[in-house]
Amino acid sequence: MGNNPALSAGELEELLALEDFSPVYRRANEVRREQVGDTVHIRAILEFSNVCKRNCAYCGLRAAHAGVERYRMTPEEMVDTAVEAHRAGYRTLVMQSGEDPWYTPELLGQIVREIKARTDMAITLSCGEMSKADYAHLRACGADRYLLKHETADPELYATLHPDGTLENRLRCLRDLKALGYETGGGFMVGLPGQTNATLAQDLLTLASIPCDMAGIGPFLPHPDTPLRGSAPGSTEVTKRCVALTRLLLPRANLPATTALGVRSAGEKSDVFSCGANVVMLKVTPTCYKRKYEIYPAPLPDTHIAQQRRTLDEQIRALGRIPC
Ligand code: SAM
Ligand code: SF4
Repeated sequence: MGNNPALSAGELEELLALEDFSPVYRRANEVRREQVGDTVHIRAILEFSNVCKRNCAYCGLRAAHAGVERYRMTPEEMVDTAVEAHRAGYRTLVMQSGEDPWYTPELLGQIVREIKARTDMAITLSCGEMSKADYAHLRACGADRYLLKHETADPELYATLHPDGTLENRLRCLRDLKALGYETGGGFMVGLPGQTNATLAQDLLTLASIPCDMAGIGPFLPHPDTPLRGSAPGSTEVTKRCVALTRLLLPRANLPATTALGVRSAGEKSDVFSCGANVVMLKVTPTCYKRKYEIYPAPLPDTHIAQQRRTLDEQIRALGRIPC
């Protein structure tokens, strides 16, 4: 994947602070069209467990949040939902969860194998930090991609937000995933308390240093039952600026208009897609579980998997882009 080494930390900071960012949005949109075309890839996301052993300060699923009714989907439910999503037209399934040791690498691997045997979907896992050997096992079972945001590139801020992990290990995971041949997805949150444009410049350079094949960049949204309940939400404008700059640094990357961005900028979908994004994710989590996977407060449509997909296809076509 080509990256653009021409942008230094100082230049990224200056660009982030521009009063009029529109020339950068235009350039990011041109690079997006030249490098990855007009297709918008629609990914299905299945949130299969909300059990988590960690206590990330921002997340509604953190272990200490006693108010969450926890669930685990059975392997059969997961495979059935995957097959239903495939029938509805999805070609990529993102399987996401808290860090839940109940799903051992062996069990997850069996589920991945079964879904690969029953569909031709690409499988993205997003289940947190593991050893290189476990990532290798899941890759051998057929997992194609892995999403693991580095969250923030500032080691001190990282340490205050993550009582059970280090930035160093997070980055070790990303490098291991890349070395194992996964399409590797990083990313970060915009608007974390204490973050500055200098931090964001480091976040952008971190994505380029892996280099990431995908990057999920979304605004931080405060959850009322977490230690960050009183913090202000991240800005959608700054988030979109970060997506645009990522398009310049990693021209061929897959860049989702993240769910969190959609939550903050509902009704601005065209805007979201003109800043360089070329991917969108739709939840296919069964309705009985969807409400329990609340990482931040968000409205949830109750529409059926197939209907939801048709509506999004139409919205993307109306923007002159091609849903896929
Ligand atoms: N447990 C896995 C992990 O942490 O990588 C995957 C699931 S976790 C819920 C997925 C992502 O949710 C995290 O990478 C984080 O960026 C995002 N997230 C969690 N709480 C959030 C919040 N309050 N606002 C915005 N994003 C949040
Ligand atoms: Fe668990 Fe992921 Fe939430 Fe952290 S962000 S508490 S690891 S689900």
